[in-house]
Amino acid sequence: MGGAMKDTHGRTIDYLRVSLTDRCNLRCVYCMPAEGIQQVDHDQILRYDEILAIVRVAADLGVRRIRLTGGEPLVRKGVVGLIANIRAISGIEDIALTTNGVLLARMAHDLKEAGLSRVNISLDTLDPDKFAEVTRGGNVQDVLDGIDAALEQGFDPVKVNAVAVRSLDQDFYEFASMSRDRPLHMRFIEYMPVGDSAGMNGAGWGPQDVVSCDDIRMQVDAGAIAAGLEALQPLQDEEKPEGGGPARYWKFPGAKGTVGFISPLSNHFCSACNRVRLTSKGGLRPCLFSDEEYPVRQAVRYGTEEDVRKVLEQTIGAKPEEHHEGDHARATATNMNAIGG
Ligand code: SAM
Ligand code: SF4
Repeated sequence: MGGAMKDTHGRTIDYLRVSLTDRCNLRCVYCMPAEGIQQVDHDQILRYDEILAIVRVAADLGVRRIRLTGGEPLVRKGVVGLIANIRAISGIEDIALTTNGVLLARMAHDLKEAGLSRVNISLDTLDPDKFAEVTRGGNVQDVLDGIDAALEQGFDPVKVNAVAVRSLDQDFYEFASMSRDRPLHMRFIEYMPVGDSAGMNGAGWGPQDVVSCDDIRMQVDAGAIAAGLEALQPLQDEEKPEGGGPARYWKFPGAKGTVGFISPLSNHFCSACNRVRLTSKGGLRPCLFSDEEYPVRQAVRYGTEEDVRKVLEQTIGAKPEEHHEGDHARATATNMNAIGG
């Protein structure tokens, strides 16, 4: 097992995000086209044995944490077995999953048994009609059941992520309040200019739909005060939930969980970036906000371990110091379902 790998800006790269599929059982307006995605030939998608081979080389280069994402990772058959196999790879200490939660209630137990460490569940609103609107047909109760199941299985931490979109008119205080009675880490993510999906109003991403994290926090505090309760208080670093990453955390006094804010646009966190991304078609990406990609599928399918290592090293070496996304440009033409967020 090798030591930690540094990029050319001195950052340790120990985190690989693996997208298992571009497909999804929801069609969020900011992420996917309404008609879903084009069918892709099976042989364009990395097989599980190929993903495992890449993870093995990554672990040898110092990767310690894996996150499975998508599309919706739980729609890909055999994901439980994949997790068990990743768990067995020497050097991998932590396996996390980002899911829309729809299939979680029925899969949480098996995922836990297989060795999954943590889950992030995406949920933009608790309002059933707004949820159906933003996901183009989803049922919010499925996700709420998924959250219950994740807590019952003892996943820790359980993080729940909402993308803040102005025209969705979300109740941020209601969402944050889910952290009061249960150990849930409720996090807000700024809406990012990624991909060419339709957005809430059909006109795509636009800066008018971005709500800054400062703005969200003020709305949460205003909700608490209107309810006769105390406002959020900043958390000390040591109180942050594990794998806190780029979020800034706050807490309602006496709450069991926390409230986090992820602001890639208004306050980017490139200096702490520790990750590379693997797409389901076998592209390695140095940065979420760029279409730059290094193909590893041929290397893992037909080449040697050394070939795979070279592509990983090349990808890590190509990590930019920072992204230059203001709020007026689309950073990448690829939709989030293909990159995994
Ligand atoms: N299907 C899974 C889910 O929804 O959690 C995993 C993949 S999804 C692409 C990962 C995350 O990216 C989700 O939390 C989603 O809300 C977020 N996301 C998608 N498009 C986004 C955008 N334009 N800006 C910010 N977050 C976005
Ligand atoms: Fe699917 Fe997740 Fe994209 Fe929504 S955000 S369409 S759940 S991949």
